[in-house]
Amino acid sequence: MSAAPILIVGAGIAGYTLARALRRRDATVSIGLLAAHDGDVYPKAALSYAMGVNRRPVELVQATAKMMQERLGITIYQHSPVHAIDVGASELVLKSARLAYRQLVLALGSELPRPRLDGTAAASVLTVNRLSDYAYLHHQLQGVHSLVIIGSSVPACEFANDLASNGFAVTLIDTPPYPLASRIPTLVGERLMTRLEQAGVRFLMDDKVLRIDRRGEEGFRVLTAAGSALETDMVFAAPMPQPRTALAEAAGLEIVRDAGIKVNERLTTSVPGIHALGACAALPGSIHTASIDAQAEALSATLHGTPTRPDPRPLPLRLNTPACAMVLMDPPRIHGEWHEKANRGGVTSLFHDRRGQLRGFVLEGSAVDARDRWLAKLTVS
Ligand SMILES: Cc1cc2nc3c(=O)[nH]c(=O)nc-3n(C[C@H](O)[C@H](O)[C@H](O)COP(=O)(O)OP(=O)(O)OC[C@H]3O[C@@H](n4cnc5c(N)ncnc54)[C@H](O)[C@@H]3O)c2cc1C
Repeated sequence: MSAAPILIVGAGIAGYTLARALRRRDATVSIGLLAAHDGDVYPKAALSYAMGVNRRPVELVQATAKMMQERLGITIYQHSPVHAIDVGASELVLKSARLAYRQLVLALGSELPRPRLDGTAAASVLTVNRLSDYAYLHHQLQGVHSLVIIGSSVPACEFANDLASNGFAVTLIDTPPYPLASRIPTLVGERLMTRLEQAGVRFLMDDKVLRIDRRGEEGFRVLTAAGSALETDMVFAAPMPQPRTALAEAAGLEIVRDAGIKVNERLTTSVPGIHALGACAALPGSIHTASIDAQAEALSATLHGTPTRPDPRPLPLRLNTPACAMVLMDPPRIHGEWHEKANRGGVTSLFHDRRGQLRGFVLEGSAVDARDRWLAKLTVS
């Protein structure tokens, strides 16, 4: 067997969870982890609700890369973005070095597409996808009273709720008629919007930001397609994240459009010896519900010599929106229909496939209490 290490590209939740699982299984295997930035560990989900309560960026760091390197006995390459994969030579290409691998794991996460806008301040629109973005935004928020958020993704709703309940005047702008429209059906989407409005968020839906111009030294003027002109202190975008696939695509790995790097049930890509997990991977339908923990556990076994399929036990997403309790279990990409029931206390939205089997759900308000009951009825593969 090659003496080269197992290399993991990506120091996010997926990369570190896999490194931990591999080390638990094998005390001696040589593991390298490549971090595009400093490689510090922090809970990414907290970025969208830590702002309003003024958590300082440094307070979010759970462990530094140096601590992780010592704790796990691995080599962490900080500030080492991978530029290319030389599949033929089994090597990663960095800016000024090459690293050989025995097995390669891509844990590249997702990226936020920048909105295409006109105007003198179009390039100043911020996004938050990592701790340094949060640090910048946190700094910029000092003295800010009003914000425009472009997009109505899960983080957009969480940011909006968090900031509005902490006294900021928040306006959220997006093209669909209600938030999360590509993931959830109408009744529950409208309920989410109502609850957030009650918490102080202003929505301009069915609309689109066209241009952003500077207003004097301080603020911005935002112009929308429907003709609204808003004066605001800050603009940031929280669009739907897209799996990061460019590195894999350039190396000739198969990609599933808008879903990620194609992997099989063992999380191996179309190129033997290269695997992917987490937000960059397009899992097959049979395991699409597998959590990152389950993926890491199974992949560590596979890399250790026992091909293993991740446990597909679903883990619904709970929105961090205190104004609106909501649990989301995305259905797979299959044909089917949503059925919704609403009362004043909550909304239950169930997705059934053509055979009438429950394949996904969204629960809001008091309906969240029935989460485990619906989970037990869910058909997973
Ligand atoms: C603001 C926000 C709020 C969120 N809230 C929630 C939530 O409440 N619940 C939830 O389940 N999910 C939430 N998510 C999504 C969640 O963060 C992701 O599902 C999770 O981070 C995926 O982990 P990952 O390790 O696959 O990707 P990431 O955590 O994104 O890690 C990928 C890593 O790969 C690195 N990388 C990329 N390319 C290269 C390269 N070429 N070379 C070296 N390194 C590279 C990146 O720098 C990054 O460190 C949120 C996301 C955001 C942005």
